[in-house]
Amino acid sequence: MSVSYKRIESAVIHGGIYGDSVTGAVNVPIYQTATYQQPELGKNTGWEYSRTGNPTRAALESLIAELENGAAGFAFASGMAAITAALSLFGSGDKIIISSNVYGGTFRVLDKIFRNFKIGYSIEDTTDTALLEKNITSDVKAILIETPANPLLTVTDISAISAIAKKHGILLIVDNTFMTPYLQRPIELGADIVIHSATKYIGGHSDVVAGLVVVNNKELAEKIAFIQNAAGGVLAPFDSFLLIRGLKTLAVRMDRHTENAADIAVFLQNNNAVKKIYYPGLPDAQGYEINKKQAGNGGAMISFELKENYNIRKFFGSLKLIALAESLGGVESLVCHPASMTHASIPYETRQKIGITDGLIRLSVGIENVSDLIADLENAIAESEE
Ligand SMILES: *Cc1c(COP(=O)(O)O)cnc(C)c1O
Repeated sequence: MSVSYKRIESAVIHGGIYGDSVTGAVNVPIYQTATYQQPELGKNTGWEYSRTGNPTRAALESLIAELENGAAGFAFASGMAAITAALSLFGSGDKIIISSNVYGGTFRVLDKIFRNFKIGYSIEDTTDTALLEKNITSDVKAILIETPANPLLTVTDISAISAIAKKHGILLIVDNTFMTPYLQRPIELGADIVIHSATKYIGGHSDVVAGLVVVNNKELAEKIAFIQNAAGGVLAPFDSFLLIRGLKTLAVRMDRHTENAADIAVFLQNNNAVKKIYYPGLPDAQGYEINKKQAGNGGAMISFELKENYNIRKFFGSLKLIALAESLGGVESLVCHPASMTHASIPYETRQKIGITDGLIRLSVGIENVSDLIADLENAIAESEE
């Protein structure tokens, strides 16, 4: 079906492969099949086996490639499977630089699995580009960043890091989970590979675990296609359908997510109980100008600390609408305690040093009525005062 459009709000609905050319169905069918009958020996329909390729997954893969403005997209069974596939580009003796605030699972897979294959890593402050460049030794083959990064929402300059990566002939990989292509398109800023935990905003409803990889050229596309088929961590047809369905509302969801977040950030900033707030949409936040240059707005993740006379356990216990849970990016607002949940694997001293204090609260702002969310926060803050 041929459609014409210019902007991302239309592309999320009409991009990639639209509907079904056989029946006219407006949705891509779920090809729930493992294999495909071959018309004769030595010939196939273009589809051989669903690990190698599946039409529902292919529709999602072409859609995410289009949205990120990349050359090709690949869908995996989780964000970690996507990250593992991208890291499988490297070999013994290679080293990857990761930013100090990367997702804990990214650190863990490098530290506990890839290190066994002699693929090294070093953790750097990627917000300091001059220092970063000094640390690029000849064995460094890639830089992997997140921006804004979890949980302190630190912003890294994608274009600046990309220039450094290009100068040294190494790859720039950006985990774009927190922003989505609606707000930030790293390939347009010079990244080579974009990764998503599609479990978050792309799926958007906290009902599917999935990962995506988008690459900026044909050579990388061939390599990732090979890894995807050889290692086999592919996304199932039904889950691929769920992501296509989720993506259709990405633009409206992200608008509401981020409008709510901006209002909540102002509420928290003006609240006497709040000691510190981290939100890249606030003008005095670290990296505000850089984020403004490279992303549509500050996103919908906010971290904050309450003052010492507030009991954090009581705060979590008093929330009625906002749920205490890991994960983020779903329509429902979620709150978590990084020190004991998402970032518990980081030693206590290191956590203090990088700012993940025991009082830190991370909020994934959903698309509920913002007054209800603020009332819930206000009440929980009042209940937790000692
Ligand atoms: C959740 C997350 C991941 C891991 O994705 P899964 O889908 O849980 O495997 C990777 N990166 C970021 C930034 C995440 O938030």
